[in-house]
Amino acid sequence: MILAVSQLKNPSSPPDGYRGRFAPSPTGPLHAGSLVAALGSWLDARKNGGKWLLRIEDLDTPRCISGASQIIQSQLLACGLSWDEEVIYQSQRNEAYQRALVRLNELACLYPCACSRQTIAGVLAKLGIETPRNQEMVYPGTCRPKTPISHSITEPLNIKSAWRLALPQDCRIKFNDLALGPQNQNLNTEVGDFVLRRKDGLFTYQLAVVVDDAEQGISHIVRGQDLLSNTARQIYLQKLLGYKTPQYRHLPLVLDAHGEKLSKQTLATQIYTQDKQHALEELRKAAKHLGLNNLPDGENTSIAEWLLAATHAWQS
Ligand code: GLU
Repeated sequence: MILAVSQLKNPSSPPDGYRGRFAPSPTGPLHAGSLVAALGSWLDARKNGGKWLLRIEDLDTPRCISGASQIIQSQLLACGLSWDEEVIYQSQRNEAYQRALVRLNELACLYPCACSRQTIAGVLAKLGIETPRNQEMVYPGTCRPKTPISHSITEPLNIKSAWRLALPQDCRIKFNDLALGPQNQNLNTEVGDFVLRRKDGLFTYQLAVVVDDAEQGISHIVRGQDLLSNTARQIYLQKLLGYKTPQYRHLPLVLDAHGEKLSKQTLATQIYTQDKQHALEELRKAAKHLGLNNLPDGENTSIAEWLLAATHAWQS
């Protein structure tokens, strides 16, 4: 069932205690890598006596695959990874994201941007900056106003252009990752002013994830290391919007034979959970990847027994 936007309206009083989440994008069924993130976040929540929520990140509608959200939910349930509250869908939450965008506009830190990817690549090339394949381009500030941004932006936020967040100078973010230790990123030199709403009107992952984590009262984010480089942007947005920063733990990625991260885009094989034995097999592989050893390996072990043993073995 879809949770109504009104039920998540008041970010000032999110529930307390340990609240974790798994937030898949429904771009295909779960694969071995996404099961690692699901299992790791589930075990961490259970070990801490907390809640584990499921949020479907179906914001980038052109990339979503019809039916994938249902498949993901049945794969999780087949693995015994049940969630504690109603599933929320980002596609239903535009009003919340728009409220956050308006708030940032009031703080005078947004500006419209007309640059295409090609324009940005051209400007960077002229500056002699090459962006390695698979890496995001650092925005060179082409559309950034030369004078301080006024909080009474004359163009309404709904004009057809992308909206970027103007970073202050020397915007360095430090945080402690519970798995990887101290981290820091200079947002100016490693990211640049980033987009919060795209030209096609879609809100970006960075804005949506921050608003949803805050409004759902998420205290612990356990997810794959592929998302590590997004964390500083998210912490900076949390600070601007007056939200608490959750604890972060980034888990080791599952790589394919070419050393590439498994992803739905590279057509990673889905996990097989059609019966208990297959589901247990997938769980065992995920647990091994997370460094959990000595778990029950008998054929007669139930999934519930196995998950209990894994929860005991989990070091949080
Ligand atoms: N939706 C993102 C993904 O599937 C994960 C977001 C997150 O955990 O912050 O990669």
